[in-house]
Amino acid sequence: MANETPSNFIHDIIEKDLSEGKINGVYTRFPPEPNGYLHIGHAKSIALNFGIAKKYGGKCNLRFDDTNPTKEDVEYVEAIKEDIRWLGFEWNELRYASDYFEQIYQLAEKLIMDGKAYVCDLSAEEIKQYRGTLTEPGKDSPYLDRSVEENLRLFREMRAGKYKDGEKVLRAKIDMSSPNLNMRDPVLYRIIHASHHNTGDKWCIYPMYDFTHPISDALEGITHSICTLEFEDHRPLYDWTVENCGFEKRPKQIEFARLNIKNTIMSKRFLKRLVDEGKVDGWDDPRMPTLCGIRRRGYPPEAIIEFCERIGVAKANSEVDMALLEHCVRERLNETAERAMAVLKPLKVIITNYPEGKSEMVDFEINPNKPELGARQIEFGREVFIEREDFSLSPPPRYHRLTKGGMVRLKGAYIIRCDDVVFGEKGEISHLLCSYVENSRSGQDTSGIKVKGVIHWVNARRCENVPVIKYYPLLNPDVQEGDFMERLNPASKEVYENALVEPYLAQCSERSRFQFIRVGYYIKDRGAFSEIVGLKDSYKP
Ligand code: ATP
Ligand code: MG
Repeated sequence: MANETPSNFIHDIIEKDLSEGKINGVYTRFPPEPNGYLHIGHAKSIALNFGIAKKYGGKCNLRFDDTNPTKEDVEYVEAIKEDIRWLGFEWNELRYASDYFEQIYQLAEKLIMDGKAYVCDLSAEEIKQYRGTLTEPGKDSPYLDRSVEENLRLFREMRAGKYKDGEKVLRAKIDMSSPNLNMRDPVLYRIIHASHHNTGDKWCIYPMYDFTHPISDALEGITHSICTLEFEDHRPLYDWTVENCGFEKRPKQIEFARLNIKNTIMSKRFLKRLVDEGKVDGWDDPRMPTLCGIRRRGYPPEAIIEFCERIGVAKANSEVDMALLEHCVRERLNETAERAMAVLKPLKVIITNYPEGKSEMVDFEINPNKPELGARQIEFGREVFIEREDFSLSPPPRYHRLTKGGMVRLKGAYIIRCDDVVFGEKGEISHLLCSYVENSRSGQDTSGIKVKGVIHWVNARRCENVPVIKYYPLLNPDVQEGDFMERLNPASKEVYENALVEPYLAQCSERSRFQFIRVGYYIKDRGAFSEIVGLKDSYKP
């Protein structure tokens, strides 16, 4: 992992603010809405916000943006906290936008008293019609000129529950002809008669995101409020709110490009549909791009941080290839994962010249990148299983595996030659009859013998059956158009029920990660071995 986070344009802004004495410390926040589980896109925002606090000796809050009671839930709050900690970050303070409901309400009253906000009876549909378009100015609301007293009374009645959902809203009085639609008297409060996961039934009016967010930032003393590009057009409203609510210390909103990954669903709303419609086995299905899914999949958090640093922070949207994330995962696991042997589709090999009843221990290197870890002892015997794909009756050119009459080395053990192929009743290959070369044990001098390659194996008398699962993308990469529900890959999960593993693997604890040599990286997950990432790197820098 890189020692120092690479610099980006946000760092430049912060350093300038620090050097000009505009701020005397850096304070950021990560503000998820607890309406679903976090995904890999959020990791970018987390790495950025918490990373900045770390880099400048500042602070970063976790703030739940919980202004929409109908969609939010404590289940998500707990999951989000777990995900952030898993990535290796700890927040300074844990806050909820709902902590500020009373203060936000008081500021709304202040705006009314200053003649900068009014209660409007237009329906949502009418508000939209009055707003105009990008080419046409909007029209003033017929309720624009209500007196301060009337506005105050109506707003207090809204709070007291006198009106039904949608009957009235509070709007900012800004400019219906502004070229920026967000400035055309935006709604600040709406009526929602619903219980809130934090405040229960205390409120039936809820502040809008665009009003809540700047106030929450200002109240917490946030210096840099970092958000994604789609909020760029909201920045004038952000600044208007901070200024007109009378905050002295004004947080600065900075936008950056969100992370998009090719052929990957990155929206809580869509991910929720996959879960609700049973297309995946929950939010933490290892195929999901959620952080809990990725965690269960076995991706190390360090690899995700490394990925976020490599993609960098830009001001223009782009799409990143999933292969880069997988590359980071592979790099990390190559350094850290123990090697082991597993055979996904077994083919039996009988070594006819190896004495019946004999067995011996052979050395198996734990991790070639960590020679200090040494070797593990594996029992070798007369019968082994190899991968069915590692034998071919009619080998294609450059086939570096076992063929009839050909020789390969069994990893860590002996060189064998295939003498005969035994067929079953249906004409399928039943097993192979091989002979081994004495004095060819790994480490012995075999310079005179030419072998085709090295293949992995398990001891037929000492292996155990543990299912192995491989994963493929949830979205069919060949279909680029249409509703994503119709693009789902029908074969995103492949189970090898007959897979055989070393006894060591059957006994290891849950969540242990391995490189199955020549197969891929795997994690023990709920009694099976599930693929983290394959060995083949398709990433091209
Ligand atoms: P989604 O569209 O997936 O529901 P969101 O933006 O609505 O995501 P929030 O909970 O509001 O989700 O996001 C919390 C923070 O994470 C915000 O600051 C948001 O800008 C940031 N974020 C969300 N998605 C991405 C992404 N793909 N890349 C970078 N940052 C993101
Ligand atoms: Mg959102």
